[in-house]
Amino acid sequence: MTAPLRTDPATVRVALGDRSYDIVIGRGLIASLGARIEALRPRAKVFIVTDANIELHHLDTVEETLAESAIAASQLIVAPGEGSKSFRVFEQVCEAIIAARIERADLVIALGGGVIGDLAGFAAAAVRRGIDYVQVPTTLLAQVDSSVGGKTAINSARGKNLIGAFHQPILVVADTALLDTLPPREFRAGYAEVAKYGLLGDAAFFSWLEANWRDVFAGGKSSGAREHAIAVSCRAKASIVARDERETGERALLNLGHTFGHALEAACGFSDRLLHGEAVAAGMALAFEFSARLGLLPQAEAARAIRHLAEVGLPTRPKDIAGGLPDADALMALMAQDKKVKRGMLTFILVRGIGAAFVEHGLDAAQVRAFLSEKLAER
Ligand code: ADP
Ligand code: ZN
Repeated sequence: MTAPLRTDPATVRVALGDRSYDIVIGRGLIASLGARIEALRPRAKVFIVTDANIELHHLDTVEETLAESAIAASQLIVAPGEGSKSFRVFEQVCEAIIAARIERADLVIALGGGVIGDLAGFAAAAVRRGIDYVQVPTTLLAQVDSSVGGKTAINSARGKNLIGAFHQPILVVADTALLDTLPPREFRAGYAEVAKYGLLGDAAFFSWLEANWRDVFAGGKSSGAREHAIAVSCRAKASIVARDERETGERALLNLGHTFGHALEAACGFSDRLLHGEAVAAGMALAFEFSARLGLLPQAEAARAIRHLAEVGLPTRPKDIAGGLPDADALMALMAQDKKVKRGMLTFILVRGIGAAFVEHGLDAAQVRAFLSEKLAER
C-alpha cells in the first residue's frame, strides 16, 4: 500500500478550560494516530466503534497504526446509517465496551461520520459515567461540524438527537485523505456546512471558497485547499463553541439554514432523498432570500450566496428537491415541532449580508409562512 502524501498538519485548539482539546488536520495523518494516543494516554487500551463502510476502507490502516504503538484494540462494527443512533445499538455499543474491559483510564475511538461520532461519543459519556474518547472523523460533515463542540446523542422515536450529552473528545484527528473514499454526494453535502461558516461570519473565506472550491473537492495532494477549508471551518466553530459551549446565545448562529433545513429534512422523512447538508444548503438559500425580502441586504448579495451553493451542485430551491414537498402549513408545523416557534414568533438566523448572520427572536411566523408558500409555488 502506498502511503498518501502528507501535508504539515494544522492544529485547531478548542478552548474549553480543563476540557480543551486539539483538532489536528492534514492529509495522511491517520498514520500518526497510534503515536498521538500513546503520547496522550500511555498504556491505554482502546475500543473502536465504526460502521461497515468505513471498516471496508479504513479500519486496517487504523489497526496498523495502533499496533505500531503496541496499543491493544478491540472493536464493534455497526450498520451504516442514522438507524444506528437507536437505543438498541447504543446498548450493544455500551455492552461491547464493558465486555472489552475498557476502564476509566482507557479510550473509545469514534471512527466514522456524524452517526458514529454521536453514537460512540454518547456511549463513552455514559459507560462508567464517562470514558475519554478520540474522534477520527471520516466524513467532511464530521470533520467540520460534529467533531467540534462535544454534542453526542441518539434518536428518540419522537425526534432526532433527543437523548444525549455534552462530552468533549480529548483529541480529534482529521485525516483529509479519508475523504477520498467518501461518495461525492456525501462530500458535497458536507461542503454546505463549510460554506455556512463563510456565509455566517467570514466574507473573506466565502470569497476564497468561490475561487477555490474545485480544489477543495479535488483534495489535490499539493494544493492544500481542502485542508485549509477544513481548518478555517473548525476554527470558526471552535471559537463560537468556546464562547458559548451549551448554546445559550451565540452558538445558535451555527443554525444558519437549519430552521428551514430541518423542516425540509423532516418532510423528506430524514431519508436519502435529502441529506442533512443538502437540506442546510436549501435552508441557507431560503434564509438569504428571506432576509433580502425583509430589506436586510441587497437582492444581488443574496443571489451571490445562492449562486455559489448551486454552482457546487447543492439544492437551493424547493423544486431542486426530488419527490415533492408538503405545503407551507405542514412545513410550519414541522418547524413548530422543532420548538423554534413560540406564540406565533419564530427564532431564526437572518443575515445582513454574506458573513453577517444574527439571531432574530421575534420573527412573525405568518410572514415566514407567506414566504414559504410563495417559494413552494415556484415549480
Ligand atoms: P454524516 O457524517 O454525514 O452525518 P454518516 O455517519 O451517516 O454521515 O456517514 C454518511 C455515509 O458515508 C455512511 O453511509 C457512512 O458509512 C459513509 N462513510 C463515512 N465515511 C466514509 C468514508 N471515509 N469513505 C466511504 N464511506 C464513508
Ligand atoms: Zn448541520
